[in-house]
Amino acid sequence: MSFSENLQKLHKEVPDKVKIVAVSKTKSEETILEAYNTGHKIFGENRVQELVRKYENLPGDIEWHMVGHLQTNKVKYIAGFVSLIHSVDSIKLLDTINKEAAKCNRIIDCLLQLRIAKEETKFGLTYEEIRNILSSKELEEMKNVRITGLMGMATFTGDENMISSEFNYLAKCFQQLKLSFYNSADYFKELSMGMSNDYHLAVKAGTTMIRIGSILFGAR
Ligand SMILES: *Cc1c(COP(=O)(O)O)cnc(C)c1O
Repeated sequence: MSFSENLQKLHKEVPDKVKIVAVSKTKSEETILEAYNTGHKIFGENRVQELVRKYENLPGDIEWHMVGHLQTNKVKYIAGFVSLIHSVDSIKLLDTINKEAAKCNRIIDCLLQLRIAKEETKFGLTYEEIRNILSSKELEEMKNVRITGLMGMATFTGDENMISSEFNYLAKCFQQLKLSFYNSADYFKELSMGMSNDYHLAVKAGTTMIRIGSILFGAR
């Protein structure tokens, strides 16, 4: 099936308010352009070099999201154009994003990545660490980043109960942080959770943004 057929099918399965980020990592610019020509505008990448190359060669109204782990020394390459960074996992990274965004005269939207999976390999912050960042003086002084929500990746497993409980935990943390820190800030509203194999569970748990690669573009 084509990208547009896959996308239509997906749109039927998820509520309209859930944003679909088409994760186009490893896919060619030609493939992305075809997808773009069907009307889809939000694409996600997980490597800086690849993201920059695609940004330079593809239409300017694409909304590029960085979904993968980001190293501080590479922030400068994407600060001028990235729409949303899903994977902020330290105050140091946030500080770098803030500085690079200031140089570009931009305010960059960021999600804090909460570690919800049991696997040790997954990046992310604990709930406690996120609370510490949100209540810090440092963050208060960062005028060029805006925290718009949380992101998480569930354990890679066939155990749907486990995945659901991780997503529910993420949603609960989001609600508590919203109450404590962003009750009157309507921009703190995004919950980025759900990929090809578990988006249906993420939708049930209240996701607002799913990051979908293989079921849109085919296997990598
Ligand atoms: C690759 C990737 C995705 C998409 O994965 P699929 O299983 O192909 O849907 C989503 N989020 C992140 C962080 C990724 O690296």
